[in-house]
Order: sequence, then structure tokens, then C-alpha cells
Amino acid sequence: MKEILLCKYGEIVLKGANKKYFEDMLCRQLRIKARKYGDFEIYRAQSTIYIEPIYTEGRPEPDIDGMLQSALKVFGIVAIARAAVCEKNMASIAETVREYIPPFLKDKRTFKVVAKRSDKSFPLDSMEIATEIGGVVLGCCQPIRVDVRNPEIEVKVEIREFGAYIHAGQFKGAGGMPVGSNGRGLLLLSGGIDSPVAGYMIAKRGVTVEALHFESFPYTSELARDKVLRLAKIVCAYTGGEMKVHVVSLTRVQEELVKNCEEDYFTLLLRRFMMSIADRVAEKYNCGALITGESLGQVASQTMEAIGVTDPMSSRPVFRPCIGMDKEEIITISRKIGSFDTSIEPYEDCCTVFTPRHPRTRPELKKVLIQEEKVDFAALCDEAIEGMYTVNVRED
Ligand code: ATP
Ligand code: MG
Repeated sequence: MKEILLCKYGEIVLKGANKKYFEDMLCRQLRIKARKYGDFEIYRAQSTIYIEPIYTEGRPEPDIDGMLQSALKVFGIVAIARAAVCEKNMASIAETVREYIPPFLKDKRTFKVVAKRSDKSFPLDSMEIATEIGGVVLGCCQPIRVDVRNPEIEVKVEIREFGAYIHAGQFKGAGGMPVGSNGRGLLLLSGGIDSPVAGYMIAKRGVTVEALHFESFPYTSELARDKVLRLAKIVCAYTGGEMKVHVVSLTRVQEELVKNCEEDYFTLLLRRFMMSIADRVAEKYNCGALITGESLGQVASQTMEAIGVTDPMSSRPVFRPCIGMDKEEIITISRKIGSFDTSIEPYEDCCTVFTPRHPRTRPELKKVLIQEEKVDFAALCDEAIEGMYTVNVRED
């Protein structure tokens, strides 16, 4: 029996003239993902994207399961039905229902059939199809009864342009908007729990994500960088399958700060450097916003006052999708997207190598500036950016 994946999208169907553009974007992303799972034809019709496996002798069989799991991570898709395909006549629909549906209804006590007929030339209307197929289900899935109000499971029959599709229960998709439909942002990616979650959340709103990671070799290790690249790979599964990670060294900046400035201000000064450098990297790579994993009050550098001192270093908006979330909520998302276990691996971060014993939680800009003047801010930023290199990562 031939199966197919029917992807339904949500918010984007509202977007009028842009609809086709968004649909093409989704198709393109699904095609990139499909490369890994074999031969599929991906096309759209009637506000649905079809992912159809193509079986050719001598070619490996397409992996529908793998493709389904991967498509469930594509933003913009609200639900995916894995359906059996058959010809558009009642005899083959009934036969397909008898063959395909019983395993889904095992252990279920009640059901109803929902028919949808977007091909209006089909001789029966939706009610008639539902009634007739309801009878077929009763005949092949006993013991079970019909409950139209509150069924445990719905059997769906969709009569569409290219055929009839039969399924029972669909999978919840990732939701959100297609990546690429809402600009490009630069994610400040550390090895922690929060920034991969921030990247995921902003990608969900349709933003293409590039990452910037600060290292501080030899105070941070190659293993620490490797961990960040692995995190980037995980985030990538949600951001279109590939991502650039720019890496900038803050070693000189940190050494200069330690040599010249009051310890209490290290973290704040370092974060001002980070924001300023990130702003320039964003400029270079055409990113309209910075994205961080900051959450209000989580640590000394994330109080309102501390953010107030670092935020103005960026000339573009800084999005902080985790700002109002508790650590527990962030961890829940981190587990869901599969980054948590990697995030908690114990490697040092450049922010933690010279941590002040008494960081300022209510910094005054005046005093921060006095400290900052003790180093050559512009020259250190230039030097850091000159040494930048980029790693291209891809979803595994
Ligand atoms: P995370 O769990 O993401 O590391 P955090 O709670 O540890 O966050 P901070 O270390 O204060 O918080 O960092 C706040 C944000 O600054 C991070 O979420 C990230 O966006 C950015 N950031 C911190 N360290 C780095 C780094 N080494 N490279 C790039 N960005 C960083
Ligand atoms: Mg961290």
C-alpha cells in the first residue's frame, strides 16, 4: 500500500499574496531534509504540501518514518498526516480502509469518519462518504462503535486533486512560521542551556539564524568549542538544516580587562565588548537583529540595570526570547529540542573564566565608562574581528 505525507500549514495561509512565497520556502526546506531519507517528490496543492515517496528499482527505499520525524521539525507546518493513497472511487477507498485502518483502531472503543471533499466533482458529498465508510469501519474493526460527538479517534477520508487519502490521527507539527520568512538574525551562542533555546524560539518566528560564538583560547578549550558546534548542529534541525557559526576570540580583550580594570566590572565590560562585536558581525553578514539567551535576573549580568548598560552597544534590536522564562521552562524546551544533554556537559565558557567575586548587579553607566576607558575599546574590537573565522555546520 502506498503511503504519503500530507503537511498542513497554519499561520502562513493567512498571508494572502505572500502565500506562494512561503509555500515555496517550506517546499525548499523539506527538499533539503529529504536528501537524507531517499527519493521523494515534494509539491503543493490546495494549501497542503505533499511528500510522496518514489519507489524505483535499484534505488534504496525511501525512509518515510525518518522523513516524517524530520518534517515535524519544520516551522510553518502545523500538522502532518501519514496517509494511505488510493484511487478516487468508493470501491478502492473501502478496500484501502479495510486494509490500512484496523491497526490504528485496535484498543479504541469509539470513532467517527470525517470526509473532506476538495474535488467537488466526486459523486458523493462528504456526509455520504462518511456514512458509507463508517459502515466499512464497523465491518472490519469490531468491537467498536460510532460516537460523532466525542470519538476516541477520527478516520479521515480526503478526496483531493490527485487521489483519495485515508488516515487516522495526524501528528502535531512544529508550528510557527517558515524559517526565512522573517529576516536574518545573529544568535550569540554559548555552550549553555539558554542560547540554543533562544535560537530555536526565534527560528520558530521565521528568522534565519546565524551564530556567533566567543571563545577564549587557551582559557577555553577545543572541547568547549566542539560542544558549541554540536549545539549548533542540534539547533540547525530547526533553522533550515544548515547554519554558519562565526567564532571570535576574546582572549586579548579579557587579558586587557584583567590587567587594567576593576574586577567587579569584568563581566559587564566583557558583555559590552560582546554586544559591540556582535553588532559589527551582524552588519557584515546582513543580520537585522541580535539574539541572546538572557533571562531577566538569572545572573548578575542579566538584571535590568546590567542589560541597560550592555544593550546600547548594539545599533540593531536585541531579541531575547527567554527574557520572561524561568530556568525550568527553558530546560523543558531544551529537552524537547534535544540540546539539554549537550548543554550540561561541563566545559568552561569565556564568560566564566574570569568571573568577578562581587559582580555589579546595579551598575552605573558612568562608572562602567571610567573602567572601559582604561583599555583601547575600538582597537581591541578590530583585532577580535580580524581574527574571526567561520564554520559551516549541518544537521546530522
Ligand atoms: P547560556 O545558558 O545560553 O550560556 P547564561 O544563562 O549562562 O546563558 P550568560 O553567560 O550571562 O548567561 O550569557 C547570556 C547570553 O549571552 C547567552 O545566552 C548567550 O546568548 C550570550 N553568550 C554568553 N556567552 C557567550 C559566548 N561564549 N559566545 C556567544 N554568546 C555568548
Ligand atoms: Mg552559559
